[in-house]
Amino acid sequence: MYFCLPKQMSMIRIEEAYQLVSGAVAKTGTEKIDIQESLHRVIAEDIVSDVHMPPFDKSAMDGYACRKDDLQNPLKVIETIPAGNAPEKTVESGECAEIMTGAPIPRGADTVIKVEDTFVNSDGKVVFTGKAGKSNIAYKAEDVGRGDVLIPKGTFLEPRHLAILASAGYATPEVARKPNVGIISTGDEIVEPSEIPGVGKIRNSNSYQLLGQARNCGADATYIGIARDNEEDTFAMIREALENHDVVILTGGISMGQFDFIPRVFNKLGVEVLFQTIAMQPGKPTLFGKIGRKRIFGLPGNPVSAFNTFELLVRPYLRLSMGGESGWKIIPLPLGETFTRKKSDRDSFIPVRVEKGKAYPTEYHGSAHIQALVTADGFIRVPVGETQLKEGSTVDVRQI
Ligand code: AMP
Ligand code: MG
Repeated sequence: MYFCLPKQMSMIRIEEAYQLVSGAVAKTGTEKIDIQESLHRVIAEDIVSDVHMPPFDKSAMDGYACRKDDLQNPLKVIETIPAGNAPEKTVESGECAEIMTGAPIPRGADTVIKVEDTFVNSDGKVVFTGKAGKSNIAYKAEDVGRGDVLIPKGTFLEPRHLAILASAGYATPEVARKPNVGIISTGDEIVEPSEIPGVGKIRNSNSYQLLGQARNCGADATYIGIARDNEEDTFAMIREALENHDVVILTGGISMGQFDFIPRVFNKLGVEVLFQTIAMQPGKPTLFGKIGRKRIFGLPGNPVSAFNTFELLVRPYLRLSMGGESGWKIIPLPLGETFTRKKSDRDSFIPVRVEKGKAYPTEYHGSAHIQALVTADGFIRVPVGETQLKEGSTVDVRQI
């Protein structure tokens, strides 16, 4: 299907852009993988415990299992219970069993006294020298019961989740397939990092930043190359990228400069463009299109803009395509100093650093100033209509 771009597609708000992107999610499907490969994947099934945790009443200390009522008496040691072994005897009055951390509590005992709080007297009996208090027993099922949902479907797996997978017996968990992402930069002025930029040239920073951002979302991302500023080259490169990837990300070439013919290329490819301009700064020339189950993002050329638009739109797209959540981490914090701007016709996103629980705008010269992100911890939004955010007002910091 050929789709004709309206000459001047209207500028939309970021919320609307988000709605269009999230409404056009093509799910990646699922696969079973080895638990060792499960870091930074989205789990596709509820993780349910098939055991109680702890599975039995167990000792939380190295010491002696005995009866609370007996703590003032010297106690005869009847057996030793190492971790991994079952107790053989019942602890009666005047007795105790030497026990190791993690070992099952023997019948008859209701308390474990720490080895540090004891000595052995001349009769070979254990004498308690501490203060009676905690039982030092971790009780069966006190953490988790059999059948409990431990991790809900759709969770992005971090290291802390992997212990749960293992303990609940998920050796080959079912996870979402990784979206296959291809990254293209555009521009005659772009050279690769290994080169010394000549007059008028600039090193390709976007591709590597986006590669990192996409991988950080759990995508299988590949850098394809630089499309030069001519229609044939750009057309051929995007067409091939669309054949081989679920999602194609381009940077540059979307604004209406002399060589910015990418919208025309999309038209020729039959890509349906859902939007191409957002009322935000940085990030105004941002395009999203679809063709079949393939999706294409045209992000702005300036690296800070590309970074920000990726975080606001591409990150949620990739995560949602895996059945996950947006992947944003947002914390409300007081603003550490007043921020002022001249114009208020767009939402603007400014980098901030977080210090002692407050957010401070970092030195930021504009959307080419990548160095500003090195010391930043996140972005805050200055909404349309506002020229000032006052010191002490609460801002939502979207962590990066
Ligand atoms: P464009 O939207 O193509 O006009 O690009 C806007 C600005 O971003 C220009 O100054 C470009 O040189 C710069 N730019 C475009 N692509 C990249 C890239 N891959 N890495 C760094 N800067 C870029
Ligand atoms: Mg360009």
